[in-house]
Amino acid sequence: MGKKDITFNDMARLDDEPLISLRIEELMSVPNLGVEPPIQPPPEKWSANYDFSLDGHAAIGLPKPKNEEEKARLVRGFLSGLGKLFDPQNNWTFLKLLKLTTDYCMRCQTCSEACHVYMASGQQEIYRPTFRSEILRRLYKRYYTPGGKLLKSLVGADIDLNYKMVVRLVESAYRCNMCRRCAQVCPMAVDNMVIAREIRKLFNQEMGIGPTPLFGKGTRNHLKTGSSTGMSPAGFKETIEFIEDDIGDRTGKKIKIPLDKKGADILLIHNAGEYLSWPENPGAFAVLFDAAGINYTLSSEHIGYDGVNYGLFCDDAELARIALKHLVIAKQLGVRKVVIGECGHATKTYCVITDRVFPGDLSISDLPRESCLPLFWEIVKSGVVKLDPSRNNFPTTLHDSCNIARLMGIVRPQRYVTRAISPKFREMTPNGANNYCCGGGSGFAIMNDFNFAQWRKKVSERMKTKQILEAFKDCLDPGTEKYVIAACSNCKGAMRDIIGHYKLWDKYRITYGGLVELIVNAMVDLPKPFLELEFMGSE
Ligand code: SF4
Ligand code: SF4
Repeated sequence: MGKKDITFNDMARLDDEPLISLRIEELMSVPNLGVEPPIQPPPEKWSANYDFSLDGHAAIGLPKPKNEEEKARLVRGFLSGLGKLFDPQNNWTFLKLLKLTTDYCMRCQTCSEACHVYMASGQQEIYRPTFRSEILRRLYKRYYTPGGKLLKSLVGADIDLNYKMVVRLVESAYRCNMCRRCAQVCPMAVDNMVIAREIRKLFNQEMGIGPTPLFGKGTRNHLKTGSSTGMSPAGFKETIEFIEDDIGDRTGKKIKIPLDKKGADILLIHNAGEYLSWPENPGAFAVLFDAAGINYTLSSEHIGYDGVNYGLFCDDAELARIALKHLVIAKQLGVRKVVIGECGHATKTYCVITDRVFPGDLSISDLPRESCLPLFWEIVKSGVVKLDPSRNNFPTTLHDSCNIARLMGIVRPQRYVTRAISPKFREMTPNGANNYCCGGGSGFAIMNDFNFAQWRKKVSERMKTKQILEAFKDCLDPGTEKYVIAACSNCKGAMRDIIGHYKLWDKYRITYGGLVELIVNAMVDLPKPFLELEFMGSE
């Protein structure tokens, strides 16, 4: 079957054959990539027991139903959840956005070319931004509107529903990075990201179905242990001691990182992934804030030291539980505001979405919450920390987090900072609010079950790979080290993937890291560079 011939009803096909098979020669071409690792089919032991029938990949890996009752249960659960999605009592948080998107799409397809997943895949129909949206729209009309059952083709409800449709639909919700680039170009302000997110929510909240790294090990781990990484408060304190030692080794400075300081101006919350994978990032924050005289604190309370909130990607209740705990901690500490470290989804959660989950009449909602990027610019602009840009005398480019740049419009501060400290900075094209997602957005960066990482590297991260290679095309020789700035923990995970999978460090000496490390690297009073340009990761 040709990729353009796939119809909505093919999602209900009862065979296990994937609707599409990805082939490297059909994917978007990427100049200077060279020979890339081949795409492998799922091993027999997986495909015999789990569902791979969307595209030969599995983000969730639903076990194949063993009997008719299990199949019927999937359909019943889906229909029950679908009804709740469109019920104001059950979905007061996001129903308006969902309705706008289901009601106003005029099928012009302007959004398709804006989507990196659709384009990178070689324009596979099943990845078109409107594909899963149209299926949800038709299913809703068929089962929840008058006339849907009897006059289905007349009222736009012509669609089959069986367990295969259910299984493929939930997998397809995890082929969208929730980057909202499609929404930006839509003449009707329709937001297909909302549909992907609400489908995820339907399955997670109603049926307990979702990717284990986000919900089994992620959110629930967060609520239980204190962090999505499983780090306990005691483990967090030990990590802080390690970072203080590391700062001493890197800078010769003895810095005590403030914990649980009452009345500080700022509660700083990092994504806990930083502590495990990139501890130099919170370390650089500590060095910079110390030098700038910022009166801040971290929290060592259960949940308070981890800004991750995977509920954002598909579970309103878990989103609210974690966000509430963060805001209560901030109130108890008596800080003036909360600043989120280099993490896009945490910034979106606390600066935007929390206000939707906790309406304005709750007293916790009056606490100011900000991204760290404008604060960086205030520090750099003020001149309070002496910086020498020649210490960063290597080519750099800047990847924008979709949540920060497109959703929140924070585009200039990170550029002002970068231009002030990095003489060989060059932009990616496009950039800022028009950027492309790193491909790790909406939780993808940590989803490594089954063969999902292969799909991510080949499809969702492909456009960013192309942008990085284009940004450095004048200096690709391996004698020049190059640095991709990604001021977001999740995006750094994607950079690690891209650089490792395509061997961009080995071939071209391209590496990546945060923005605050680059600022600290330019500090004139440090005896040696803070940054060691090397590749932190493997294939
Ligand atoms: S979502 Fe917007 S851009 Fe895409 S087809 Fe619908 S109306 Fe057109
Ligand atoms: S939100 Fe991003 S990944 Fe999802 S359909 Fe739109 S452009 Fe594609």
